[in-house]
Amino acid sequence: ATPYFFSTASFINDFKISNRRKKYAHKGSFGHALLIGGSYGKIGAIVLSSKACLRSGVGLLTVQTPRCGYDILQTSLPEAMALPDWHWMVNTTVPNIDGYSAVGIGPGLGKDPLTLQLLRELLPKLTQPTVFDADALNLLSEHRELLTLLPPNSILTPHPKEFQRLLGRPWQDDFDKLSLLQTFAQQHQVIVCLKGAHTAVALPNGTLYFNSTGNPGMATGGSGDVLTGIITGLLTQGIPPHQAAIFGVYQHGAAGDRAAQKCTQPGLIASDIINEMGW
Ligand code: AMP
Ligand code: MG
Repeated sequence: ATPYFFSTASFINDFKISNRRKKYAHKGSFGHALLIGGSYGKIGAIVLSSKACLRSGVGLLTVQTPRCGYDILQTSLPEAMALPDWHWMVNTTVPNIDGYSAVGIGPGLGKDPLTLQLLRELLPKLTQPTVFDADALNLLSEHRELLTLLPPNSILTPHPKEFQRLLGRPWQDDFDKLSLLQTFAQQHQVIVCLKGAHTAVALPNGTLYFNSTGNPGMATGGSGDVLTGIITGLLTQGIPPHQAAIFGVYQHGAAGDRAAQKCTQPGLIASDIINEMGW
């Protein structure tokens, strides 16, 4: 039988992910992240991911959005560099991905056929660790042949509905759900963070980790986009994918718990999670 683990605070400490920086460090020491997302009406999602990615400690961040997102991103997040697609409403073009340490794709992305084409062309080019979320996952679900192109150790961050779409069917009960999660991660050799209360992280060897942080105040629009930014940011700094997924989920929940202390659970919005980030 495969062992089950709980991601307790003491376990997270084993990763030795430091919050101290070397005195002579410079922004080149912390990698360059690339986030791709946003579509007309959903630019906020990629802005939230971007903010969280910067707060996770990356040296540099470039964000590809459709052209309608350009002013929004540059105004709301001057720390990020913007890479506007030629299309006004949706992302259509695969950027030159050389030189980026990690990639995150999906928040606010939309499912336009031109965006599908982008994903189809991007997948075989990826040599850096990558996070797939939201509509990137929904596009994969609708074009299952693309699942075989996922690079090993890619991180997928579905909420339950997105995971059911990836599976192509709902589960019967919680045991069925976890066994499907385990099988999916093994079959595709990817890391899957199945989000919710006690997010379950499945590794390619089938091991499952259950998160011990987070609260129902985080059941609010944009929470998941923040997680995508955090995990992409950790990957960018060279943290191995297994650790980036487990540590990122843990810290996302911990920041959500600090935010709920201040705002109460109903009052919490996704930006509050970002404002409580740091480890
Ligand atoms: P998304 O649905 O993509 O916005 O993701 C929602 C985020 O909020 C995930 O990181 C979930 O783990 C978190 N979340 C949602 N509901 C809860 C809950 N009841 N308890 C803890 N975390 C939650
Ligand atoms: Mg989401």
